[in-house]
Amino acid sequence: MFLGHTDVVPPGPLEQWTSAPFEPTIRDGRLYGRGAADMKSGDAAMTLALERFVTAYPDHRGTVALLLTSDEEGPTNRDGVRRVVEEFRRRGQRIDWCITGEASSRDRLGDVVRVGRRGSLSGRLTVRGVQGHVAYPDKVKNPIHLAAPALAELAATRWDEGNASFPPTSLQISNIHAGTGALNVVPGVLEAAFNFRYCTASGADSLRERVEAILRKHGLDFAIEWEHTGEAFLTHDGVLRRAVSAAIEDVCGITPEADTGGGTSDARFIAPMGAEVVEVGPTNASIHRIDEHIALDELETLPRLYLRIIERLIAV
Ligand SMILES: [Zn+2]
Repeated sequence: MFLGHTDVVPPGPLEQWTSAPFEPTIRDGRLYGRGAADMKSGDAAMTLALERFVTAYPDHRGTVALLLTSDEEGPTNRDGVRRVVEEFRRRGQRIDWCITGEASSRDRLGDVVRVGRRGSLSGRLTVRGVQGHVAYPDKVKNPIHLAAPALAELAATRWDEGNASFPPTSLQISNIHAGTGALNVVPGVLEAAFNFRYCTASGADSLRERVEAILRKHGLDFAIEWEHTGEAFLTHDGVLRRAVSAAIEDVCGITPEADTGGGTSDARFIAPMGAEVVEVGPTNASIHRIDEHIALDELETLPRLYLRIIERLIAV
């Protein structure tokens, strides 16, 4: 399966663009426009590669598919790939290999392929105390005093050691609030928010349990609202990664580096189905920026690269 999206991020201030963001313009060996690199060129190249493939190999093995969503860049990802995955599960259909044409390359086409992502797990914590006058410490329950050692323990905890493909899981406390503004009032409530960027050495369920165990150990009266926005995944060095590497060597003449950095993509919904997933596409220096562009030679090479990947997987 080839996976892509047709939506784009907003252009930002129009007057800063050298040419209009929604009028594709060629100059200096580049195609300029919002979505040129992320990821209209990838969509076009994947479509071309599939057309050429089924024409050249009508008796190929397996099934090929193109999945394009228009709900990737927004904050919700409610109605795109998430829904398609639900439907695949309902039908009992599997995806063996998924290639998404997101802009993965750093300096030139094919130098980096993305083979995994860290997961993202957030929590909104409320610690309840009893509000009162600072002069009567026996009549209050100060949620700041109660929460502080627990938050310190959360901040100091080593969640895992990472692994060969990922740095260790990190927790960052991003917001903390308590107090009425008055100097003589102990507040009744403390609110804090935190986010995990976690690697495949930890899972979201175990992180949730460990956080709650620490808060219980400190005797807190608390509630947490959890938000799990992306599962961590890693595609092992199997059939798909080897085919992609070999195809890049064939077409671009370089050996790619496997990487797990960068922001999230729809690949995070496909990977949990058990699919091998690789992101491979144009250079990403200009994505989401003013004057987004793709080099014309990358644009010409991309369909050949995608075609070569499918050939290596299922041509015969
Ligand atoms: Zn994208």
